Amino acid sequence: MNFLDLKIYKTRNLFRICVFRKPKYTAKLLAWDSHTPVQYKIGLLKTLVYRAAKICSDKELLLSELGTLFKIFCALHYPKSKIRKYCNIKFAQNCMINNINKQQNPQSKKIYFGIPYVGNKSQVYARKVKEYVKPISNVKLQVFYKRGLNLIERLKVRKQRPARKCVYKIPCQNCTKCYIGETGRLLNTRIYEHQHSLKSAKTAIAEHVRNTQHKIDFSKVSVLSGERYDFRRKILEALFMRKNDTFDNNSSSVLLHLW
Ligand SMILES: [Zn+2]
Repeated sequence: MNFLDLKIYKTRNLFRICVFRKPKYTAKLLAWDSHTPVQYKIGLLKTLVYRAAKICSDKELLLSELGTLFKIFCALHYPKSKIRKYCNIKFAQNCMINNINKQQNPQSKKIYFGIPYVGNKSQVYARKVKEYVKPISNVKLQVFYKRGLNLIERLKVRKQRPARKCVYKIPCQNCTKCYIGETGRLLNTRIYEHQHSLKSAKTAIAEHVRNTQHKIDFSKVSVLSGERYDFRRKILEALFMRKNDTFDNNSSSVLLHLW
């Protein structure tokens, strides 16, 4: 009978259990030449040996399962020395004993630390970090590796998000003066409002246009700084106004001299 990953036989007066694999099992596991830390590959091998030791009900079935694992890992191009080291009955039995000891004596506190995996450099870095933490008793650092960007993600052109919550500058086409403003909304929306209120509004831009007949260069609008918090944005606006020759002669919405 097959149940989950167990194959259960009934002999005369006892049950025998071994690992069950579907007839179409393809053994597509982590290959040795994949861009993954060696520890993960060895970890996979050890895990499957431990699983075999835990599931197989007698030595004969365990040996048979270890033989299957040997073939699987050979096909995945694992070095034979590594397979022999872990895929044997002694290691399998030790796994069981070590696991029982672990459960009886819970180990020191584990701290998990993730770093991006970029090949050997990441492993060297992980080793160094572990050495630093080693002197601290009762703490065990468990480094894990995070996946970086894959080829498709690297080549993908990222869409530029429209600017919002920023301090911006609108220059004049005919003189050196400019308008410095801030908005918590989309910049495009605010610029559209400026363009369509040149004649009617009492803004600094509109007044400059009315008084001088200059043209405003809306094609050269630039973002000076992004800032999500309103008050900080207003301070930034005031600072940029100080730096630039503005239409409204530096009348910012917050008074810098208060600080
Ligand atoms: Zn001007």
